[in-house]
Amino acid sequence: MIPYGKHRIFADDVRAVTDVLEHGFLTQGQQVPLFESALCQYTGAAFGVACNSGTSGLHIACLAAGVKPGDVVWTVPISFVASANCALYCGAEIDFVDIDPVTRNMSVDALVDKLHLALAENKIPKAIVVVHFAGSSCDMAAIAEITEPYGITLIEDAAHALGANDSLQHKVGACKYSAMTVLSFHPVKSITSAEGGAVLTNDEELAVLLRRYASHGITRDPAMLGESHNDEPWFYAQHELGFNYRLSDVHAALGRSQLKHLDEFVTQRLALAERYDEALEELPVIKPVLDTNSAWHLYMIELTTHDRKVVFNELRARGIGVNVHYIPIHLQPYYQQLGFKLGQFPHAETYYERALTLPLFPALTADNQKEVITQLREVLS
Ligand SMILES: *Cc1c(COP(=O)(O)O)cnc(C)c1O
Repeated sequence: MIPYGKHRIFADDVRAVTDVLEHGFLTQGQQVPLFESALCQYTGAAFGVACNSGTSGLHIACLAAGVKPGDVVWTVPISFVASANCALYCGAEIDFVDIDPVTRNMSVDALVDKLHLALAENKIPKAIVVVHFAGSSCDMAAIAEITEPYGITLIEDAAHALGANDSLQHKVGACKYSAMTVLSFHPVKSITSAEGGAVLTNDEELAVLLRRYASHGITRDPAMLGESHNDEPWFYAQHELGFNYRLSDVHAALGRSQLKHLDEFVTQRLALAERYDEALEELPVIKPVLDTNSAWHLYMIELTTHDRKVVFNELRARGIGVNVHYIPIHLQPYYQQLGFKLGQFPHAETYYERALTLPLFPALTADNQKEVITQLREVLS
């Protein structure tokens, strides 16, 4: 079976991990800070806080943004559930903004409409989790301009988008228009640390808060301990109810080594996307917008003339590991029980009915890709 996504590990990545196992600290050594500064250098962000998953990154980003019970957070229905769950972890309410059917990212028009309604109801969101779907940047400049007057905190969920640029050539992660950007290093993402994530920001206060939330809410900063503890070298102070969301040095070493391959990975992904774009020209499918700035985490087509279930099962039977990204979050049983209904976000629902993810990852060979295209052509003929 040709999978839809797969990590690529090189000999230098393996060496980086075994070096740590043989010589380094397993946790709280130098690898994590080195990985954090490498991420900052790559993206242009001022501060980076590594954590043990993208999901924990989203959680501490919401906490650092001050999201709490009584607040509302918005995201899109077409994303992984973690983009919405993070708000619920903080006791806040979640709501969704429909997607744009062309870009499949958050619809700027829907956002404007929803903000007008929210203003009338006095339910302006505290934060918005903006997802760069499939690796293609949202129109952050527009989203920032619309939301700025309301003091809404923008959190970029860039789990798909490390290595991407926005249309103005800012690196995703630079936090040019947002308070924080969250990354994931799960094996199917741009680079991997097995499990892992990070939150990037240009705001030092947020960085300090993020770091505390990722480690039990504890600080050893002398300025925060109080004078009476100056001569107590063992003393530390817990200021918030934080978590153990720390990344280990073993994982950080892998992530740091993988980061050196990131540009090469993104170039390979773009070349594969361009080949799909050309090869699928004659087929009755909607292709993704060919965004050359995207990190091309995923390649989804939409089937307009064929039943998705039939095509999916037929391709799987032929050894093509197609997938579906994503089941709309508001249609998950957990979210239905919160009161969300079918029909609330029609563009997301239509997209989902037709969506099919084709294999795309750096190690996908030209022959394997040809096989995917041949099988798809046959199934659709
Ligand atoms: C993968 C993913 C996450 C969660 O990342 P983990 O590292 O798996 O916790 C969050 N949001 C999106 C959009 C993702 O694709």
